[in-house]
Amino acid sequence: MDQQTPPFKCIWCHQQEPQVEFDKSHVIPQCAGNNDYTVLPVGIVCKKCNGYFGSKVEPHLLDDPLFHVIAVALELTNSKSKKPFRQKIFDKQHPSEERIKRHLSLKSTLSSNKLSLQISHQESGVLSRQYNTRELAWLSRAIHKIGFEAMAWDFYVRKKNIPIPIFDNSFAPVRAWAREGHPTNSIRPLLRFMGNKPAPQLEYQMWIQHGHKIYCWLNLYGDWYGMNFTSNSNTIDKHLAEWSPPIESNDIWVISNEMMSFDKYKIMHQR
Ligand SMILES: [Zn+2]
Repeated sequence: MDQQTPPFKCIWCHQQEPQVEFDKSHVIPQCAGNNDYTVLPVGIVCKKCNGYFGSKVEPHLLDDPLFHVIAVALELTNSKSKKPFRQKIFDKQHPSEERIKRHLSLKSTLSSNKLSLQISHQESGVLSRQYNTRELAWLSRAIHKIGFEAMAWDFYVRKKNIPIPIFDNSFAPVRAWAREGHPTNSIRPLLRFMGNKPAPQLEYQMWIQHGHKIYCWLNLYGDWYGMNFTSNSNTIDKHLAEWSPPIESNDIWVISNEMMSFDKYKIMHQR
């Protein structure tokens, strides 16, 4: 039997038919431009887990200022309704902190009864967000959800190999965190690097260290995230600090109980 056929066992809750029903699962939410490419076929994520992520977890990423700006810039459209996901950078949920400055330049031409205006219109302002720990936890869970499903997608759809079986207990930490928010006393840390060029696709790469620690690096429309799937809450800080992600940059941030630079985080945890 081909081991890469859908197992009809949920990768999150490990339940099987007939306890649960199955549905397709979008690795990136459908409303935010998933063009039916990064989709897990029926038999991998159960309806209950899928529904929970879609209604409770993913909205926190979709609302995040950086994701929002990228979504507008890339003109992401809802692949189901074909409507634009977001059209304005400064909207009700994302107001500018300062008065928005608008710059307009017009060049007009007249010929017989026709007026043509050549328009250049720019607006600038400041988006900011003061995160509290609750919001950081939701954001971390949403990214871990996408990361782990991206691995499942790599395996079941792109037919790449995974060094540890997807139902192995090694993945219990990432499953418990994304699906249930456990443990509740600390936020599972991950790295964020804000690329300056939005790109309309998902990239995914996996690393294995010391034969058992699994890390992934995920490019979500030009916004990069690095995370670990296997270390538990006692060792994750140390393991993440030891990891050398593929981007060498002082601009990497850690989303954790607080946000800080990766350099500072390494000094705190690497010993
Ligand atoms: Zn499930």
